[in-house]
Amino acid sequence: MEGGPGAVLVRYGEIGTKSSKVRTDMERLLRENLEATLAARDVVATVDREWSRIFVRTDDPEAATDAACDTFGVVSASPARSVDPTMDAIREALGAAASDHPAGATFGVDATRTGDRDAHPFSSPDLEVEGGSTVEAETGATVDLDDPDRTYYVECREQEAFVFTEKRSGPGGLPLGTQGTAVVLLSGGLDSPVAAWELMKRGCTVVPVYVDLGPYGGVDHQARALSTVGELARYVPDGDLALRIVPAGEIVETLMAEVGATRMLSLRRVMLRIAEAVARDVGAHSVVTGESLGQKSSQTGGNLAATDAAVSIPVHRPLLTRDKTDIVEQARAIGTFDDSTVSVGCEQVAPSHPETNATAEAVEAAEPDGLFDRVGAAVDRAELVSPDE
Ligand code: ATP
Ligand code: MG
Repeated sequence: MEGGPGAVLVRYGEIGTKSSKVRTDMERLLRENLEATLAARDVVATVDREWSRIFVRTDDPEAATDAACDTFGVVSASPARSVDPTMDAIREALGAAASDHPAGATFGVDATRTGDRDAHPFSSPDLEVEGGSTVEAETGATVDLDDPDRTYYVECREQEAFVFTEKRSGPGGLPLGTQGTAVVLLSGGLDSPVAAWELMKRGCTVVPVYVDLGPYGGVDHQARALSTVGELARYVPDGDLALRIVPAGEIVETLMAEVGATRMLSLRRVMLRIAEAVARDVGAHSVVTGESLGQKSSQTGGNLAATDAAVSIPVHRPLLTRDKTDIVEQARAIGTFDDSTVSVGCEQVAPSHPETNATAEAVEAAEPDGLFDRVGAAVDRAELVSPDE
């Protein structure tokens, strides 16, 4: 969009409902996160906060808007032009904005004016009327006040006015880093990156863990897990996210040799124990999985309960009630889909007649003695891998 220095108007939502101390801290973090994201993407910009908005000044409003829309806490962002708060300057900017008006599209002008009532010799309805005639003259398009195809927005403040035509949706949620740390069991499948994203969206820093199942896993699964970490890193302000790969091949071989119908559940329990040990190491408050009720035999309500009994740390399952089609759609939207379409390796571990409603006692009784004693050593041998290495 031409017609004045570039800016982005960034809006946030839930933060605004917090008490003033919490709100101030969260607003500061949101701003810092956005600054870090812009810097990581080499977008030159300055970020200011004013009332309940964030303003970005930049020569590249498009790239800065993309960065804002990948920043948790942001509800929407608009690439805009900043002009003097005069009728002439606003009309000029509207004329420039209308230069790419889609053929045949109707339009409306939505103007707001803030600050001292006497600061401007015009009202917001004046802006709408005069702005409307400018756009009409430029495009020949028809006004539709009820349901316009394109809206031209004017936000006129005392010192400057912003002109824009888009409100792009951000992810919402809370700024990353406001809700502590969670360990995410990331399988290389489709669900777990979405589960990770959900926790990140609510402000959690995540520590992704991949459990290497040895001969029952596979390098392609591990590679998929790593590339989803790369996709998720886009949402981490400084782009820094690494995968912990915990070698569990020997434990899986023991399960294959010694456990029958409840083998898969014991494997889940081992995974949770691994995640719990990592959580202790990194100071995380919980473990996250991509499980969804009834999606697999290991994910019935009873089996999830039997699985959870192996750990004392809370296990969060943000996808518990979500349908697969819905999860797939979200994976596409957040950019983790392409990298996560292979089936996970642990399918090879599944017994032909899996238990669908185990008790924790029965699962435990079928487990080899000292099974969990090997978890600590496996976690100690974990490898930390960055997606770009
Ligand atoms: P995903 O759920 O990631 O799409 P999936 O549905 O094929 O993969 P499931 O067998 O349903 O995998 O696994 C359930 C959950 O267990 C996963 O969402 C993930 O949180 C965890 N998980 C499974 N395998 C692994 C692994 N090898 N390493 C880490 N976590 C795993
Ligand atoms: Mg799954």
